[in-house]
Amino acid sequence: MYVREEARKGEGTSFRELGLSPEALEAVEKLGYNSPTPVQEAVIPAVLDGRNVMAAAQTGTGKTAAFLLPVLDRLGSEGRKRAPRGLVVTPTRELAFQIARVAEVVGSSTGYRSLAIVGGVGMESQRKQLERGCDIVVATPGRLIDLLDRGCVELSAVEVLVLDEADRMLDMGFLPSVQTIVKQVPHRRQTLLFSATLGDEVLKPIVSLAKDPVRVEVSPQGSVAESIEQYVLAVVPEAKKRVLVEVLRREGSRRVLVFVRGKHRAEHLSRILCKKGFSCGAVHGNRTQGQRSRALAQFGAGKTDVLVATDVLARGVDVSEVAYVVNLDVPHEPEAYVHRIGRTGRAGERGWALTLCSKEEYADLRRIERLTGTTIAPYPRADGIDCGEPEPFLDSKRRP
Ligand code: AMP
Repeated sequence: MYVREEARKGEGTSFRELGLSPEALEAVEKLGYNSPTPVQEAVIPAVLDGRNVMAAAQTGTGKTAAFLLPVLDRLGSEGRKRAPRGLVVTPTRELAFQIARVAEVVGSSTGYRSLAIVGGVGMESQRKQLERGCDIVVATPGRLIDLLDRGCVELSAVEVLVLDEADRMLDMGFLPSVQTIVKQVPHRRQTLLFSATLGDEVLKPIVSLAKDPVRVEVSPQGSVAESIEQYVLAVVPEAKKRVLVEVLRREGSRRVLVFVRGKHRAEHLSRILCKKGFSCGAVHGNRTQGQRSRALAQFGAGKTDVLVATDVLARGVDVSEVAYVVNLDVPHEPEAYVHRIGRTGRAGERGWALTLCSKEEYADLRRIERLTGTTIAPYPRADGIDCGEPEPFLDSKRRP
């Protein structure tokens, strides 16, 4: 588990001071957290106060517990109904499962039942579980709408609505779904909106959902945790896979995440790595939900060493203790870079990331550097690695 820097120094606020009940504090203990992250420090008291919240918090900041702890502390125990009183909407299945896992731990202390409603798995069992009743639903928009259309889920008792990774949901075209869902939720409710950025343009279509919110902005957009060292290595495109193999041999292949552009490339790479003798799993859009969950679980449990993924995984998925991240390709979207490398060095751990960059990708690398306000240093241990003799396109002023 993670121990934040402040906790080690014995500084900072304690969970106890945030106003959580003894049951919720017991949940904190079960989760193994020593002291609240900055997002938790700001969000938990506001939610307990019944305020609406808009928080700029990306994955890795502890945002999940920031909303689940107070929400699952505050639903109250009176008049338990079968219909859910808390609703969390999140863009991807992985995120939904991850949130539901934390909700289960918290709920086991505070006495609330949670349920994940996601696509890619049978609808019938979800319908039956909804019939049996639950207190909080964690859903992806598509499946929730399917169940709403069939009259299988009732949202009129919802007291708290959480829109998680709201910018991402809009990016993925979920605005109409979110609007349909919100229409079914009572007007009088508490709304918590989490997004990587609170940029007005980005959130414009939904910003009015959280009236008079407490605004929380802990990490500026595009910020990379200081605990992550970032490196770049210039390579020709054809050399990338063999460079990766060499890096894995030199740096060790335990708990390594490799991000790749495109599902076919991800599949191909994972086959090559397996052939080379690495224990390797893959997570990308061409895999079924079951395969994705299995690959993640095996990586999580340390049964596979290397996990190859497309950006499906970059946001949100909670894989801890990642030794380092390799970007086989530079992502087009600079924000994706921040999310990708955010998988290492989480919540105070140290980590590092290496990006393999071809000449064609240099413009994308520069956009990342502008967003993050950093100049990525050349990989210092490249001696003897055959990168295919790329032209010297990396800025010569870069210093290791
Ligand atoms: P999240 O941003 O919610 O995805 O959380 C990122 C990671 O930080 C997860 O692995 C959490 O288990 C962990 N985490 C969340 N809150 C704390 C905390 N207060 N102390 C230590 N680790 C935490």
